[in-house]
Amino acid sequence: MGETICHWIDGKLQDGQSGRTGPVFDPATGKERARVAFASAEEVDKGVAVAKNAFASWRDTSLTKRAQIMFSFRSLLDEARNELAAIIAAEHGKTKPDALGEVQRGLETVEFACGIPQLLKGDSSLQVSTGVDLISVREPVGVVGCITPFNFPAMVPLWMTPIAIACGNSVILKPSEKDPSASNFMAELYSRAGLPSGVLNVIHGDRVAVERLIEHPDVAALSFVGSTPVARAIYEGGTRNGKRVQALGGAKNHMLVLPDADMDLAADAAVSAAYGSAGERCMAISVVVTVGDAADLLLPKIQERIGKLKVGSAEDPEAEMGPLITAEHRDKVISYIDSGVEEGAELVCDGRGLSVPGCEGGYFVGPTLFDRVKPDMKIYRDEIFGPVLSMVRTEHFTDAVALVNENPYANGTAIFTNDGGAARRFQREIQVGMVGINVPIPVPLGFYSFGGWKSSLFGAHSIYGPDGVHFYTRPKVITTRWPEPEHRGVDLGFPRSR
Ligand code: NAD
Repeated sequence: MGETICHWIDGKLQDGQSGRTGPVFDPATGKERARVAFASAEEVDKGVAVAKNAFASWRDTSLTKRAQIMFSFRSLLDEARNELAAIIAAEHGKTKPDALGEVQRGLETVEFACGIPQLLKGDSSLQVSTGVDLISVREPVGVVGCITPFNFPAMVPLWMTPIAIACGNSVILKPSEKDPSASNFMAELYSRAGLPSGVLNVIHGDRVAVERLIEHPDVAALSFVGSTPVARAIYEGGTRNGKRVQALGGAKNHMLVLPDADMDLAADAAVSAAYGSAGERCMAISVVVTVGDAADLLLPKIQERIGKLKVGSAEDPEAEMGPLITAEHRDKVISYIDSGVEEGAELVCDGRGLSVPGCEGGYFVGPTLFDRVKPDMKIYRDEIFGPVLSMVRTEHFTDAVALVNENPYANGTAIFTNDGGAARRFQREIQVGMVGINVPIPVPLGFYSFGGWKSSLFGAHSIYGPDGVHFYTRPKVITTRWPEPEHRGVDLGFPRSR
């Protein structure tokens, strides 16, 4: 057994005090790599006190200084991208190129945050009344709690921390306990970039730590990304405690394929988006919805591509898809495949029973494909979060659109077609937050914002980009008058412009 991963509080590593820890596995071998400290409510309180103290001076640190620290962090992160990708791959199990892609997408948000002096410019109107000026500014909210999922151990913390910090807030980051090391690594980089101690703190743990963040009176805002039941609970608990909350949840992303689509492009996209990162992406395609005779054209092309996929550990440079995160999750994914068979879907490719030579203890499930899936089946209704793709056949475009719109999740969706009119109609009628047209995983760039609808996001703000700046700041409007002779004299009337 290896080390115990500690908290990062007040600019240094600190041992856990609770006596509770959890395992961190190598998902490719099933071996325990390390333990991670699980914070008690009292340890969270100490971290919040440190963050609150740091906030008092950080909010007054000049914008130019804050921007300089972001630029330094950006360059350190860029230099360390391979090291960070190796940490991600070791604990998460995704391939190195995939881990590097995640770091790249995280870097985009840091780059966006480097522009904070521009992003925080307020409005002003002079002489709104005679001798009266008005300015509006945005101020940081205070201590922000950031709670992140296992599937992007670097990117999701990077969706939150650069903007929260650049806006002048201090942060308690509570990463997933399944792959916690990337957060500590990034905290050290922030520190080397010149971020004062206490502005970013990493507190590890489970729901005990999260529940204390939800209740803590000195935590002003919560950013959460994870599964829908937890997102809903955090939104409800956080708002009940007077906090602003953005809580991004799970997904069931549909890809429509019309009969006129470029079928090779659609098959490449479906396979890449369904099985990349073993399907453990909130923007993974988990349902292909075919219209008319598209299914018969598409299915053999998908099958052919699945046959060539190489599954293996991140240490294998040829592997395209890695293991699932835990044994428990692997068993859950397998039970979904079993239920699909029991409920009468056609199992075209079966990923059960896969053994990777040299990694026999790993949590692997091979790429799995079901055809003729019906909307009442469990494999259609639930988010499986594994390498399981379902094909649902529909007759008409309107049936396919209705299917997507009836689904409680609404994170991402895509359409594959060469018909511009159909694509435009889809874009307008679909009730989903992020839409791709011949693009299977439409994750907006760092200078836009990311967010689904319905059960995929609770709260009024999407994450990162301009919505991130709005979420991590609140507006203040200042009306100013410098005494001049015409303003003198008591007047009990309602203030009005002159
Ligand atoms: P999860 O909800 O189990 O955990 C997320 C975080 O919440 C972790 O830090 C975890 O420690 C904490 N947590 C877990 N259970 C809790 C509880 N009962 N009370 C309080 N805190 C709790 O999610 P996960 O398995 O780590 O991540 C996968 C999920 O995240 C999938 O559903 C995926 O779709 C979703 N996700 C969504 C997005 C998005 O942008 N919408 C992005 C990435 C992942």
